[in-house]
Amino acid sequence: MLNCKQVASLASDYLDNNSTTKLNWKIRMHLMMCSHCRRFYRQLKVTNKVARSALSEPSNDNIDELLQRIKESAKK
Ligand SMILES: [Zn+2]
Repeated sequence: MLNCKQVASLASDYLDNNSTTKLNWKIRMHLMMCSHCRRFYRQLKVTNKVARSALSEPSNDNIDELLQRIKESAKK
């Protein structure tokens, strides 16, 4: 079982699908059980998405939904 520190350091690789399937599974397991890391991962995901959409052409991502999610995650 991974600990929170390990999950935090692996989270960006996990997000980019750079980690192995076996590791992905371990991270997923941890995220299911740990609300701290779930929150951390969610924040990371939003940040990552914003960074990507700032760098690339507007895609079919729903910007309004994205902004809403940022607002929601900022509240918590
Ligand atoms: Zn954790």
